[in-house]
This record gives sequence, C-alpha cells and structure tokens, in this order.
Amino acid sequence: MPHLKDILGDTVRDRCERARLTPRENEVRKCVLRVFAARGSPPDPKEIADLISGTPEMREKLPMAREIPDMVSLSPEMPDVLQGPPENPDMHSLPPENPDISPIARKRPDGLPLPPEKPDILPKIPAVSDVLPVPSEIEVLQALARLHAADILTLRGGRIVAAYPFSAAETRHLVVFSDGHTAYALCAADALGIHFLLDEDITVRSLCPECGREIVIVLEGGKIQSCDPAGAIEFVKARDRCGCHADACCPDLNFFCGPDHLAQWQECGVHSREGVVFSLEEALEESRSIFKGFLG
Ligand SMILES: [Zn+2]
Repeated sequence: MPHLKDILGDTVRDRCERARLTPRENEVRKCVLRVFAARGSPPDPKEIADLISGTPEMREKLPMAREIPDMVSLSPEMPDVLQGPPENPDMHSLPPENPDISPIARKRPDGLPLPPEKPDILPKIPAVSDVLPVPSEIEVLQALARLHAADILTLRGGRIVAAYPFSAAETRHLVVFSDGHTAYALCAADALGIHFLLDEDITVRSLCPECGREIVIVLEGGKIQSCDPAGAIEFVKARDRCGCHADACCPDLNFFCGPDHLAQWQECGVHSREGVVFSLEEALEESRSIFKGFLG
C-alpha cells in the first residue's frame, strides 16, 4: 500500500521541513493555523502581528478579519504574490474567493443546516515575544510570502485563502468541533488531519462526490469512533497536474460512501480511474503521520 506522500509527491509536513523556516516564519505559520482552527477563517497580517505581540487587551480590540475590507496598503517592494489578484492560471481551479466567509452565512451545498456557531473567539497565541521582538506588519507579510512560496499556505489577492489543512472557502469537507464551531478542510486527508493537528475530538461531515450523501465520521482520541455510512472509503486520484497542492491534489482527495459509488463516479468517463483507495483506518494513519505534532 503506497503512502499519501508517494501519490502526491510530498506533504505539507515535508515542504515545511524543506523550507527551513525561520523562527519568525514558523511563528506566523502557527498563528495562522490557530486562528483558522479557532474560528474557521484566517487572520489578516495586522491581526497576526497583534496576536503574536499578544496582550489580551490587544486581542479584545481586534476586529475580525472578515470585517476588514482590504488588506493594508503594500509597499512597492513587497513580493508580487501579496499585491493584487493572482496571475497564475493554475490557481483558478481553487474555489473562487468568497468575500463573505462568515460562518453564519455558510450553508452546506446540499442545503442541510449547520450546527449553531459560537461567537468568534481568537486563540491564545503562546508568547514568544520574550525570544523574538514583536513583528511589524511588513515582517508578517514577508513571512506569509515565504510560506506561500513554500506551498505551506495559499495567498490570493493579498489574503490567506488556505493553510493546510484549512480552507477559507467552502469545500465538501466540513469539520465540526465539540463546541459546535466549524471549519472547512481542503481535502479528505486534511479533514482527518485536523483531529491530530489539534488533538481535539471532531466530527467530519463530507459529501460523497458521486451521490452527494453526507458521510459523517466521528473522531475521538486518535480513533474513528463511528462512521456513517459504515463502508466509507478515501480515494486519492493520481497526481497529473502541476501547481500547488491545494489546486492540483485537494479536489481529487475525497471520501466516497463505498467502493460502489467510487466505481460509478469513475465510470462516468469524466474522472480518471487512476488512484489509490484507502480504508478509513488506513486514511486515518496517513493523516496522523502528516499532521500529528505539526502545530507543536
Ligand atoms: Zn455516495
């Protein structure tokens, strides 16, 4: 049985290790993931700078990222990726940027109601400013550009739209936390990975690409507590495109109700037959190996 990294080329964990991030870049990476996890939407650069500098009073005063219409004006010497809309045609396969990513406005594609949301709460960012000076917004922007270049997160038009395993845009993989708040995962493997990233019990609600049925997977203590339908599987299509993983791989990494629905989906002729099927237990181990300790 091949591993996910063999099929995909590498994983975000590999890319992160290869990038040899500076302490500041790593601090920004973790801050982005913690905010994404806490409220399902990414922070903007000013918020990151303020959170890292970290007094509770500053956090109190922070507006939510989605209430800020545009990111700060960027200086001309900033990397292109932080300025204006993206030019890379490979980026177009990601879902279009949704200007309103408020969890309240979210609906499932199948129209099912979401569980009640709790008010947004910013996470507590461990104070590292004892070690590093408080970052300027420009430093945060530079760190974000580096993380984008290393395919650890994705910027579009100057905003964070994804940071593996989280997506700001709606996907077919919704993760529900035990307190009821939600976040979208980029793919099936990322949805399972959030359990290990945060060491939190979660419920994954993912839509079968063939029939649209919701597949509900309850994860507790590193194990699958339940899965409905019971025979659900994870299918990873062989990688045949270039570009960042969020574009090239994530749309092809899904749960199906079972082998029969995968076969029907493949037989329609539009989708490649090539790929690897993981049982849920195998899929869980793959996601554990990628995300366990990734935020540590
Ligand atoms: Zn199905």
